[in-house]
Amino acid sequence: LRERERERMELREVGRTGLKVSCVGFGASPLGNVFGTVSEEEANASVRLAFQSGINFFDTSPYYGGTLSEKVLGKALKALGAPRSSYVVATKCGRYKEGFDFSAERVTRSVEESLERLQLDYVDILQCHDIEFGSLDQIVNETIPALVKLKEAGKTRFIGITGLPLGIFSYVLDKVPPGTIDVVLSYCHYSVNDSSLGDLVPYLKAKGVAIINASPLSMGLLTQAGPPQWHPASPQLKSACQAAAAHCKEKGKNISKLALQYSLLNKEISSVLVGMKSVEQVEENVTAARELATCGIDEEALSEVEAILKPVKNESWPSGIQQS
Ligand code: NAD
Repeated sequence: LRERERERMELREVGRTGLKVSCVGFGASPLGNVFGTVSEEEANASVRLAFQSGINFFDTSPYYGGTLSEKVLGKALKALGAPRSSYVVATKCGRYKEGFDFSAERVTRSVEESLERLQLDYVDILQCHDIEFGSLDQIVNETIPALVKLKEAGKTRFIGITGLPLGIFSYVLDKVPPGTIDVVLSYCHYSVNDSSLGDLVPYLKAKGVAIINASPLSMGLLTQAGPPQWHPASPQLKSACQAAAAHCKEKGKNISKLALQYSLLNKEISSVLVGMKSVEQVEENVTAARELATCGIDEEALSEVEAILKPVKNESWPSGIQQS
């Protein structure tokens, strides 16, 4: 039965890497207690259920919970007792609880620290974390070359960049040698309230870069419980999303399910990373993906929610430092 369950989660290609990842990926930032406290038992059970349900892609960072997410994820993956090749692990470098440091020296040390916390010999993807907070020219001239060396040394199989403002991706991709960057991770730009990443897809495809889309629930905006205190959205955006959630509830629908399904519809995206902190959330998200595959999306609920969110469509928030 387990094998059959696993087969039911769609796998997608990750650009040119040869990797195949589940269309729903496990975002492990909640394991760093970023969205409230998660016990180690709950974390282990969530990772186990995710893996048994066919989720083979796990994303973390030394930044999440000040290294806690990596440690908890590492333990949970080890407890699976599964072959290393049966799951894909992505982590990041350059962003820490203490601040940003994209120097070659720091990111080179960083991956060793991450591997120790994750209890792994290599990661599959190593990404420069939130590059809009660094000098993009340093990313191009120093950080990416350091990551290329780490790739050659076998510490990571592939490399990538992450961040919020979409312009950072083309800035960097136009300056590095073709084929250097394997993956971009964009977040909060392919959700029901903001689908602006869609416009960049043809460019990224032409560059041969795989696209990972994180935060389909817009970091909690598209949930019944609402976003955490630290959420950077404007009061207008927050209240529009709250209205959409209330509308769904009234109609007996689930805004989070609809939001995840919306993000999954774009097949140019290799994986949609959802932050999950409980067995219940894993179950709901796996079910959402399976139902989408068999029944399609609830078009009526989607158009109602889109209408409610129209006044704030593609509204984002500032992130990072101004580049000269
Ligand atoms: P998200 O949109 O996935 O929302 C996560 C929130 O939704 C959490 O509070 C979670 O507990 C809750 N949730 C999950 N499933 C739910 C369900 N079925 N019903 C109700 N609530 C549910 O945002 P996120 O966690 O920020 O993003 C996902 C992952 O993507 C992160 O964990 C991280 O791995 C990655 N990410 C990376 C970057 C970056 O590199 N800069 C930025 C954002 C996210």
